[in-house]
Amino acid sequence: MDLILASGNPHKAEELNELFKDSKLNIQASTEKLEVIEDGISFQENAFKKSKAYFDRFKKPTLADDSGLVIPARTDILGVQSARYAPELATYTEKNQALLKDLEGLKERKAYFVCYFCFYLNPEEVFFFEGRVHGEIGLKAQGVDGFGYDPIFFPDGKEGQSLAELPQWKMEHSHRAKAVKEALKFFQNF
Ligand code: IMP
Repeated sequence: MDLILASGNPHKAEELNELFKDSKLNIQASTEKLEVIEDGISFQENAFKKSKAYFDRFKKPTLADDSGLVIPARTDILGVQSARYAPELATYTEKNQALLKDLEGLKERKAYFVCYFCFYLNPEEVFFFEGRVHGEIGLKAQGVDGFGYDPIFFPDGKEGQSLAELPQWKMEHSHRAKAVKEALKFFQNF
């Protein structure tokens, strides 16, 4: 099955093709980037909005993903707004430092990454898959691998190691990897 990725980012298409290799899903980068306003109140809603916008434009099955970091004790930041935290800062090194400062003194540091996929095959066949990875926000940034908030996120069961120090583990156990596994299970029998 050919799917257009509802994102203007060709690297995402490459990454998802790698994750979906050996399956019957072939993810193609979109030839055109559509401006979709991600103002939904949930990851699910934003993923739906993106996939529907690309379906409406190309009239072909599409796939969209939406992801972010959730800190239940601080629902006023991040969540569906994860990509828009501290927009005045240019790099994630700076954003992570700002976030650690923001969380100074916070005792309840439990957090999770979440990823939602929306497969919009046609208006009657729309499928969602979710993946999460649980952990906590550390007291300092560690590691050089990964991207975004990885250096300050310490997954459960991996005491003292941030996601940015666990590239191999992340490939298998991340929120994105788990959402991919769910989708693969479903489409195997589709
Ligand atoms: P989007 O899904 O590309 O819109 O990303 C949403 C936000 O969550 C961005 O700020 C990303 O940096 C962050 N994010 C999503 N997935 C990850 C991850 O695997 N590691 C670190 N940050 C992530």
